[in-house]
Amino acid sequence: MSYKFIKEKLNNGKLVILDGAMGSELEKNGAKMDKNLWCGTCSVEFPELVTKVHEDYIKAGADVITTNTYACTPISMKNYGLEDSIQEFNQKSVEVAKKAIENSKKDIALAGSVSASGSFYKFGTKAMIPGFKEQIKILTEEGVDLIILEAMSSQADIVQTMIECSYKINIPIWLSISCVIDNETNNVMLGYNDTIDSPPEVYEDFEKSLNRFSKLHKGPILIAHSDIGVTGKAIDIAKKNFNGILGAYPNTGYYEKPHWKFADNITPNDYLEYAKSWLKNGVQIIGGCCGLGVEEIKAISVLKK
Ligand SMILES: [Zn+2]
Repeated sequence: MSYKFIKEKLNNGKLVILDGAMGSELEKNGAKMDKNLWCGTCSVEFPELVTKVHEDYIKAGADVITTNTYACTPISMKNYGLEDSIQEFNQKSVEVAKKAIENSKKDIALAGSVSASGSFYKFGTKAMIPGFKEQIKILTEEGVDLIILEAMSSQADIVQTMIECSYKINIPIWLSISCVIDNETNNVMLGYNDTIDSPPEVYEDFEKSLNRFSKLHKGPILIAHSDIGVTGKAIDIAKKNFNGILGAYPNTGYYEKPHWKFADNITPNDYLEYAKSWLKNGVQIIGGCCGLGVEEIKAISVLKK
């Protein structure tokens, strides 16, 4: 486990492969999703399965795997009366991921996923700060190699708050944000769309967001949990507005709590073609989010040099 080889790859213009979806792969392997915390309970309830999914991603070619902590945010766990388990769920998630890395005997970096899952926007961003800091602290102390602020689906001021909460952390920080097309203007916006029967959540112009976030955050920015087609458009915008390292891990399908539903419109080979075009456009980190799993990661791993 280390970040050194990732840093070298990124500095030398090489591609880094990130893992793909955790929840949908766990379901495929027989894990039960929790109605509140989705796959967040799996590190404790099905630790072997979580390790197995991490191992599957490593075998598929991932250089970086991500802890199963997206849904284990302190704010969400408190909301469901699980405040006494925050430490345990996050710790256990690091432990099972480390085990997969050890078993692989490969040099793999471990990313700690910190998210805004379960945050209540109506209470303001200030109310979210303790939770963000707590999750960052636990994961860092447990020895992850980097933190991914999985701020996807979040409003711009939540993204900004998460960035600010990461300032004093002395391991690399990556930032993930989502984009969506505004149906009225056809512009690429910060926002997301998880369902097929409701309009997209549209926050602000994606270009404006990128300009704002890149002033505050110096690490890689990844376009995540977004439609594959929109991701390509967002990459074009990012190329003009952001000088740093760019990554992408989009979605396919849609959400129907507590399951991610698959849309069988993208084959692993299709995904490889998209990844090739993004790589050509300067993207250096590619993985998958909801609906893009082990097969897709395996397909894009041929792009590693
Ligand atoms: Zn996703």
